Amino acid sequence: MAKSRFEYVRNYERDQILLPNTYILIRVDGRGFHRFSTHYQFQKPNDERALRLMNASAEAVMGQIAEICGAYGQSDEFSFIFNRTCSLFDRRESKLVSTVASTFTAHYIFLWNKYFPDTSLEPSMLPTFDSRAVLYPSAMEVRDYFSWRQADCHINNLYNTSFWALVQSGKSEQEAEQALMGTNSADKNELLFSQFQINYNNIEPLYRKGTMLIRKLKSPPVSKYLQKPEKSQRQLDREAHRQRKADIVLLHDDIIGDKFWDECSTWLI
Ligand code: ATP
Ligand code: ATP
Ligand code: MG
Ligand code: MG
Repeated sequence: MAKSRFEYVRNYERDQILLPNTYILIRVDGRGFHRFSTHYQFQKPNDERALRLMNASAEAVMGQIAEICGAYGQSDEFSFIFNRTCSLFDRRESKLVSTVASTFTAHYIFLWNKYFPDTSLEPSMLPTFDSRAVLYPSAMEVRDYFSWRQADCHINNLYNTSFWALVQSGKSEQEAEQALMGTNSADKNELLFSQFQINYNNIEPLYRKGTMLIRKLKSPPVSKYLQKPEKSQRQLDREAHRQRKADIVLLHDDIIGDKFWDECSTWLI
């Protein structure tokens, strides 16, 4: 780019470079989704279409950003974990955080009509997502991070399931809130079972456990250097993109216990 006398203002830019050799975790969260979900009449406590739309958007993000090795989502949030050695954007925080949020948002809007075919998004109520980065020094903190999010999913879902069962049985929202005040997990399980014949453990794992996406590399990554020379860079990029998407596995399992981590330890690299 040609130099101009204005060029000096560039020196005011400051990059926050994320510490090398640490796991980069980026969480996106829907802005004002309480209102957003009311506006578009999400089914309560869980709208399956909305959760599947979140999952599809996250899968698309992973298809596009190869350095992401896994992701966990629930409600209006998704957490993406990057390879420890990730060098995307030279680990510039603002580049990473803004790219993940905008890529996620772009896919969410693009895919909206596939999951909500009878509802159009309105310009006055468009979905937007904020995003933050956190660094974790070892796999232990990464595991505990995901456990924290899944525990949050469980606590909120048990509460919301009880709350909406009460509301749908004729209580006002205020009365439902009152009825649940001071109750623990066992109380809510008991309330669901005795008053509504709902066995909480039989509720869809998608709702109770959230969704884990992991990239299982069955075949070695497509190398730019080992291909026949007649393939163009464009073709190679397309193949690599296809392969990255094909290798993503979607799970609604418990990720707090050892089983998941013992069986799926190779995805976190
Ligand atoms: P903020 O902008 O601070 O994130 P928020 O309104 O998005 O505010 P959150 O704490 O992120 O608040 O909560 C998201 C809310 O979105 C949930 O409380 C719930 O009401 C709603 N929501 C998200 N996903 C679903 C879904 N699949 N089905 C029903 N409601 C949902
Ligand atoms: P990065 O991802 O690092 O931002 P980039 O390819 O987006 O890389 P920029 O420095 O942001 O690079 O430059 C944007 C480039 O996009 C311009 O150099 C130009 O080639 C192209 N471009 C942007 N807007 C237009 C436009 N309206 N018409 C034609 N070309 C455009
Ligand atoms: Mg939110
Ligand atoms: Mg949220």
